[in-house]
Amino acid sequence: MPSIHKHKVKAFLSRTVLSLLPVARNRHGKCNNCGACCKLAFQCQFQGIRPNGESYCKIHKVRPFNCRKYPQKESHHVTQETCGYWFEKDSD
Ligand code: SF4
Repeated sequence: MPSIHKHKVKAFLSRTVLSLLPVARNRHGKCNNCGACCKLAFQCQFQGIRPNGESYCKIHKVRPFNCRKYPQKESHHVTQETCGYWFEKDSD
């Protein structure tokens, strides 16, 4: 398995396990439906794209905790460039 893919899978598994924990209190903002987190380890088959380019989840009401709580904490936040969430410094 190529190392970059291995890293993505490892990060995905880590996010999955830690998604059982509460979201960090220093997280702010809200999802802007950029869709970046729908393709972190693999392209999610439940990601939909509206005509205006906005992403949506086809199983939003029953989506897994991994998606529901992303980004759960700052060290897991790998989509900062487009994500609507941000973390206040020094309180994670
Ligand atoms: S990366 Fe952030 S803003 Fe984009 S879809 Fe995921 S949670 Fe929402």
